Amino acid sequence: MSPSLLNCFTKEKGTLITEQITVKVIDVLPLEKYQKRNGESREMFRASVCDATYVCITNVYDSKKVTIIQPNKVLILEDFYIRNGEISITSKTNVFKAGDPPEIPDDIIDKASLLLRGLQFPYRGLLRGIADLHRYKCCINGRCRKRKLQENKCPKCGRLYTETSSEYAFVGKLSVETDSENNTYTIFTPQVEQLCTDLGCNIKSTSLEDDIVQKLSVNIKFKKNGEKITKISVETSVDVHGF
Ligand SMILES: [Zn+2]
Repeated sequence: MSPSLLNCFTKEKGTLITEQITVKVIDVLPLEKYQKRNGESREMFRASVCDATYVCITNVYDSKKVTIIQPNKVLILEDFYIRNGEISITSKTNVFKAGDPPEIPDDIIDKASLLLRGLQFPYRGLLRGIADLHRYKCCINGRCRKRKLQENKCPKCGRLYTETSSEYAFVGKLSVETDSENNTYTIFTPQVEQLCTDLGCNIKSTSLEDDIVQKLSVNIKFKKNGEKITKISVETSVDVHGF
């Protein structure tokens, strides 16, 4: 008998599990960047997996495995770690594709599909207002992270731009009500782009701030880092009533 997920989590933290366990992948989040202790930038992704006994988050520190670890796939894992109540998969972990899906009760599947939702957007609130939305010309060099141009020159890498060769970036402020508390958060280009997509606004509009205001108030889900919103999504009515 191969061990169950629940067996694995009864072992000590940081344990390398060398036995093979069979799991089903329920949900997968997109690749995200992280910094190793030596400062190197790498990519990882998260997945929720379960078997008939247990549900957990899996952190995959090997971005190549993104082609194997996909929703609904049944996998056999070997040589992985248990850390802080989660599975860690590295480049040394063997991940086999398997057939025969294990029988999994519905309540376990439901639990597994909620795990990552909370991770991606831990907060919910009412987007009430937008202020100080500025569009500015920025450097297109990835390493300059959308640095604002000064007289058509990037202050970081020194690249010179013509009137049309630069990109545009955004910064703005949102007023968000959560649990009857009002907070102000800063948003940047990716969040403005997402808001425009979700609200059906044209990001090139010269009256973008007013265009967005026309659509308020709306329920949002978001992730924050201090005073900054790092991820935002306008909730659909399915989200609001289903969660
Ligand atoms: Zn630059």
